[in-house]
Amino acid sequence: MTDPILIKDHIRQIPDFPKPGILFYDISTLLAHGPAWRATVDRLADAIGKMRPDKLIGIESRGFLVAAPVAYRLGCGFVMVRKRGKLPGSVIPHSYELEYGTDTVEIQTDAVKPHERVVVLDDLLATGGTMRAAIELLRKVGADVVAAAFVIELNFLGGRHRLDVPVTSIVSYD
Ligand code: AMP
Repeated sequence: MTDPILIKDHIRQIPDFPKPGILFYDISTLLAHGPAWRATVDRLADAIGKMRPDKLIGIESRGFLVAAPVAYRLGCGFVMVRKRGKLPGSVIPHSYELEYGTDTVEIQTDAVKPHERVVVLDDLLATGGTMRAAIELLRKVGADVVAAAFVIELNFLGGRHRLDVPVTSIVSYD
């Protein structure tokens, strides 16, 4: 059956945010529209369910909003990858290069067991640097990263070519 909801219609584009020259793809309007958000979560769940993940991983912060409802629908666990200093207890850090300087992401030491199958989710794929760092972190803890999934993919930035796992996205822009 064809889904009558056009998810793209609910994604707002805001020029010059957070700085001049950046076109920001805002999912606030998608989240605020019940049927469109449900259709988004359902489509992701249909695609990801086939991969038989043990856990879904959300990247701070909009990745949490995407991964948590999909994990609920699939009945699998949800785990957070956060910026440095946000997670309590024992954590594993991973630092990665930015255009200027470095950044660090963390996961709780016991959040994923070695060889568990995980799919990593974020709201948007741009250059792929953020997802790549999350995947590297997950491999440090021994996870089997089976895919990366996004609501939005910016094709013109070629992010998927920087990732060595299958990439799924619901809508894309050329
Ligand atoms: P990247 O590491 O370049 O793939 O950037 C992806 C991360 O930055 C995601 O967590 C997105 O939420 C955010 N991001 C990058 N570019 C945009 C954009 N144009 N609109 C909205 N979010 C973006």
